[in-house]
Amino acid sequence: MRKSDRKKLADLTWKALTEAFPDSACSLDADTPERLAIRGILSAQCTDVRVNITAKELFEKCPTMEALDALPEEELVSIIKPCGLYKSKGKSIKTFARLYCSEWGGQVPQDVSSLMKCPGVGKKIANLIIGEIYGIPAVVVDTHCKRVMYRIGITDNTDPLKVEKDICEVFPEETWISLGHKAVELGRTYCDARAPQCGECPLNEFCKKRTGDGK
Ligand code: SF4
Repeated sequence: MRKSDRKKLADLTWKALTEAFPDSACSLDADTPERLAIRGILSAQCTDVRVNITAKELFEKCPTMEALDALPEEELVSIIKPCGLYKSKGKSIKTFARLYCSEWGGQVPQDVSSLMKCPGVGKKIANLIIGEIYGIPAVVVDTHCKRVMYRIGITDNTDPLKVEKDICEVFPEETWISLGHKAVELGRTYCDARAPQCGECPLNEFCKKRTGDGK
């Protein structure tokens, strides 16, 4: 599809998503940059509800990154176990706390490349942090966002970095932060991976999967 057509599709998508989901927001608790980052690390292959519950317990035990840095890894792992992948997540959290306390001078960096120095913080989580906490335009391309953007026809790619690039090409910068949240809500509400509810979906008049271009 030509870029100008994808841009028109993006305009229609933004309008429909804004009407359908005016109040979409991040479903991870986001009180401080460092805590959001830890929740982001915990969120891999885990629900946001579970992450919020487990993180609450973790931050009650370790209210600061210094306390988290000092917490023995075995204790950390036993707290975060309900979130799954707990060994690798434990290592990532320990590295994050160490970087925060030493290399970053007690602040979460505002650039994705510094954030991505920490294992477990990929582009998705880095974008979440800079967008949610610092208000820097960035799209969070999670599994829902990737799926719905492909089905709508905004992208022909399935690799998240390429999907992000395609989104950023055709949606205005000021929509990026909210767009990710709205795409997630669309995915959860109508555009299920296995059984999309196209009949009720607010995007069904222009979505390429629905209008039949073979997606
Ligand atoms: S019309 Fe169907 S495939 Fe397209 S976004 Fe809506 S639910 Fe998904």
